[in-house]
Amino acid sequence: MSLLPIQKGADNPILRRKGAKVPEVTKAIKKLVKDMFATVKAEDGAGLAAPQVGQSLQLCLALVEGKMTVLINPEIVWKSKETKTEEEGCLSLPCLQVAVTRPMTITVKYLNEKGMPEERKLSDFSARTVQHEVDHLNGILLLDYLMPSLSPTGMKPAQ
Ligand code: ZN
Repeated sequence: MSLLPIQKGADNPILRRKGAKVPEVTKAIKKLVKDMFATVKAEDGAGLAAPQVGQSLQLCLALVEGKMTVLINPEIVWKSKETKTEEEGCLSLPCLQVAVTRPMTITVKYLNEKGMPEERKLSDFSARTVQHEVDHLNGILLLDYLMPSLSPTGMKPAQ
């Protein structure tokens, strides 16, 4: 097992690219998952997406109901209308906290680490963490949520 360096920066091309689907859970994928587990633990993170460790793949780890869970090719197939706004941080954007409004409950379909399909309905923190990680797989970063949170009157002109 080895710790992987975290890709950082809002203009980092690998963080802005949509990850490729994982066609098969190979030995190399299992090794990547092990290394990502070690890395997220060392960083004390609630989740980690493959692009954050330099792999442009649809694969992430997320703390789901208290357990770090592997989600391969995750797809959010349902979102509640009810939303909640909470501050989030990101290992790739240190020192930044952004208030993000997200659906409170989601249904996510994915393959587990054995390549078996799973479907789970998640709420609150688990739902938020999975949505944050799925954003990473689509090249979306916390910074992209900054604009809608500006006050309704918009920014004041520079003085
Ligand atoms: Zn992040």
